[in-house]
Amino acid sequence: MVKRLAILGSTGSIGQQTLEVVRAFPHRFQIVGLAAGKNVHLLAKQISEFKPAFVYCQRQRTAARLASTEYRSLSMEDIARHPEVDIVVIATSGKAGLSPTLAAVRAGKTVALANKESLVMAGEIVTGEAELNNARILPVDSEHSAIWQCLKEEPQQSAQLILTASGGPFLHYSLAQLSKVTVEQALNHPSWQMGEKVTIDSATLMNKGLEVIEAHWLFGTPFENIRVLVHPQSVIHSMVEFVDGSIKAQLSFPDMRLPIQYALSYPERLPNPKLRRLDWSNIQNLTFEPPDFETFPCLKLAREAGEKGGSYPAVLCAADEAAVELFLSRRIKFTDIARLVELTIDEHKAVAHPTLEEIMAADSWAREKVSQIQSLNK
Ligand code: MG
Repeated sequence: MVKRLAILGSTGSIGQQTLEVVRAFPHRFQIVGLAAGKNVHLLAKQISEFKPAFVYCQRQRTAARLASTEYRSLSMEDIARHPEVDIVVIATSGKAGLSPTLAAVRAGKTVALANKESLVMAGEIVTGEAELNNARILPVDSEHSAIWQCLKEEPQQSAQLILTASGGPFLHYSLAQLSKVTVEQALNHPSWQMGEKVTIDSATLMNKGLEVIEAHWLFGTPFENIRVLVHPQSVIHSMVEFVDGSIKAQLSFPDMRLPIQYALSYPERLPNPKLRRLDWSNIQNLTFEPPDFETFPCLKLAREAGEKGGSYPAVLCAADEAAVELFLSRRIKFTDIARLVELTIDEHKAVAHPTLEEIMAADSWAREKVSQIQSLNK
């Protein structure tokens, strides 16, 4: 059976890698919808190659002019809920993923979720709607894919999730060293190829913090049962410890195409010659150490925001997004990212069980707050 896919965020890193998986299995997957932001040239190429029926582009006119194929222009939400779509891949970064994710779960779709923000900002709403509408949310993030694979046919009750973290490019740096790192250094991740925002988040460990919150919602695991372990080789993608002390881990060569492919092919596994295998003769040792919460405060901030719940995680996400933008445009230091996020969270008056409108309001408030604090500090 051919699975019909819509990829929202098709020109980003995850989107492009999803299309590589589709290319490897043309008889298994068909692209019926593509959505992208500003990269119209790449989108036009993708339209010509995959001939989707539905397209969303922020610059719709240019895309239509560049693509040689006919298609219908729809909003991301309309693509996500369209009856001709079986699986919706949410590969947009930031809060833009939330509304189409909700549209997809409300339509009872299978959602391959690569966007962390949807669950971090609105985990309660998204998982509630998914349950109500019999939608499945399948993780694409490598850690959550690993946990999902480890938990299969196992009792989830009291399972301890152990999320592994590479530690990023600045593992073992001191705070003084961290305050001097450049954008180029921060964008140079040792083991994963990713988009800019998530690469910076990996360097601050905010990414791991967001993943803790994401894991809480995906697997219904209480925060006290989720731990983070630094594992610089990125061979073990995460682990689960069961009540009897037995631990399962998922290992593979670090390549996002594998968790993407598993979410698309599930419950099947497909042989893909493009995916490198682990070469045991190249692996001298696998090491583990606890994360350094003092030097990398983002991990602690995220965990606390997740535990407090309500509108705190939305504020965390928005403040981080705004701070990372400031860092990427070279207006603040690397260590200012955590500082801005912390100051913003401290000033937030939280709402418990927020509605979507309240989440969006918290998001705007946090972005505004970050720029306020930043302009006061100039
Ligand atoms: Mg990850």
